[in-house]
Amino acid sequence: MLSKITCMNCHYCHETCIRKGKQKTVQIYQCKSCLKYQRQDYKYRSKLIEDQQLIQLVKEGCGIRSIARVLTISNSTVLRRILKIGRSIKRSPTVSFGQTYQVDELFTYIGNKNNRVCVAYSLNAKTKEVIDLVVGRRNKTNLKRIISTLLLSDAKQITTDKLNIYKELIPVRIHSTKNRGINHIERQNLNLRTHIKRLNRRTICYSKSATMLLAVVKIYFWS
Ligand SMILES: [Zn+2]
Repeated sequence: MLSKITCMNCHYCHETCIRKGKQKTVQIYQCKSCLKYQRQDYKYRSKLIEDQQLIQLVKEGCGIRSIARVLTISNSTVLRRILKIGRSIKRSPTVSFGQTYQVDELFTYIGNKNNRVCVAYSLNAKTKEVIDLVVGRRNKTNLKRIISTLLLSDAKQITTDKLNIYKELIPVRIHSTKNRGINHIERQNLNLRTHIKRLNRRTICYSKSATMLLAVVKIYFWS
């Protein structure tokens, strides 16, 4: 359908848009201010929803279906968009040397409540920045991925709980298991439990897939 309108207001910043070519028979517009390409109206409402809105709702403790209801888009769109955002997030790039870190795990379920998995991650004790995270079983392979990042960044001290796997992975001179040594990361666990719907305890909320869980935790930490 040909559009007679020569200009319209941007869907995102409400500045003036100009005509900028066509996609098949639909007029495409470009915003003069934010330079985003757009159409006058969309068949699918989700096109008008920005990633930032989804990120905000995920971090505010909304589940997939509640996000779908609030934004009036479909469940599958929410899932697809969250996975896409999760994939685009890379691990925090700023790793400084000679820092003190805390490492801990937090348990949740995938698929059913008999299938326990853990979210293990490392936190800079001073800046409270999350360095690395892994989702899966609490075994040597998974914890090694967390620890090796810290060892590569020449950690001054790594504080963990008294789990035996850590004793094998961390050199004795920088390993600490002292009382209250992982206070900061334990508090961060509480934040996660409060702010991410699928990590809420004593509810029926848990993930169906590890990929989704990883995407949501990555969004929480790094976006
Ligand atoms: Zn604009």
